[in-house]
Amino acid sequence: MGRILHLATTCLLVIGSFGCSSRQRIPVVEQTRTAMGTFFTIALYGRVEPAAAEEAIAAAFDTIQAVEGWASTKLPGSEISALNRAAGRDTVAISADLSTLLNLARQVSETTHGAFDVTVGALTTLWGFEDSPQAPPDSAAVDSARRLVGYSRLWVGDGRAYLGKPGMRLDLGAIAKGWAVDRAFEVLRGRGFADVLVDGGGDLRVSSSPVTAGRRRVWVRHPRRAGEYFARFPYDSGAVATSGDYERYFLHNGVRFHHILDPQTGWPARGCVSVTVLGPDATLCDAWATAIFVLGPEKGLEIAKQIPDIETLIVFEVNGQLFWRATERLSAMLEILDPEAQPGPPAGFLRE
Ligand code: AMP
Ligand code: MG
Repeated sequence: MGRILHLATTCLLVIGSFGCSSRQRIPVVEQTRTAMGTFFTIALYGRVEPAAAEEAIAAAFDTIQAVEGWASTKLPGSEISALNRAAGRDTVAISADLSTLLNLARQVSETTHGAFDVTVGALTTLWGFEDSPQAPPDSAAVDSARRLVGYSRLWVGDGRAYLGKPGMRLDLGAIAKGWAVDRAFEVLRGRGFADVLVDGGGDLRVSSSPVTAGRRRVWVRHPRRAGEYFARFPYDSGAVATSGDYERYFLHNGVRFHHILDPQTGWPARGCVSVTVLGPDATLCDAWATAIFVLGPEKGLEIAKQIPDIETLIVFEVNGQLFWRATERLSAMLEILDPEAQPGPPAGFLRE
């Protein structure tokens, strides 16, 4: 059976000859490179002209690199680093792309009353998950960093932006990868390729042609069993992103501390273990996966139901038992692969 696998941090996208006796392999031109701290895979399916495909893929990777160039907190020359350095002092000229992205982020912040907040940078810097910490910071430091978070103090307008307090920091870690996936996807579609996959470490966007239609499955990683999958569903076109507490974390005295922080407390958000969001574009999915994760299974599902075009699968844990909830349209096509996981909420589960 001809099968092509795409492995990523959070989702596995499989194209196989499901229900099809043909042993034909689907032609594909693909490349994987590291960018934005993860693996990006770009693939073009069907009969494509190899030189044109390679050239288009290279252009798509250039676009991803350009996004990293302005969005990264690690690059001193990025627009984000300039804004962070000027916090509380100066406005900084920003690109139209960054301005659009910051306005999108603000909308998600407003809808979630700050559960999602790209001004979370002082907190993420303090926790320092990138440097593999072994213990949480002390709570006084968490409290002072928490006071430097607040999307209402981020001003964006007239091609400039400004962070209102010294010490405030932007961190686009929850949304920039989705943005990069979308821009790369547009480059490929703009060059006439119909059957496209852009996978940014599990945040992905796909479109199908008759060659692959009905044959793609997205597999959602099991949040507690490495190498296993929790669920899968068929998916022909659109975007998917997953946020999980198993991506970057450490255990301290038996407690899991992970990289998705609740701006209200300054500590890792406690309600969910994994949130997958499907939607029209990867930017929206990336932002909402993080946002719903912070909101928790109750509020998160309520809000997801109100956002047009998005579907979500929320996995959460109560006393070591995994439960899941999903929006209606996703439930209808979802196959849960963990026989022990129960549809939630469990009896007696307290409303947040
Ligand atoms: P994701 O994997 O898309 O859920 O993004 C997680 C990353 O987003 C973290 O590593 C931080 O860089 C950043 N982040 C953490 N908490 C928040 C939050 N509450 N709102 C926005 N960004 C966050
Ligand atoms: Mg995200």
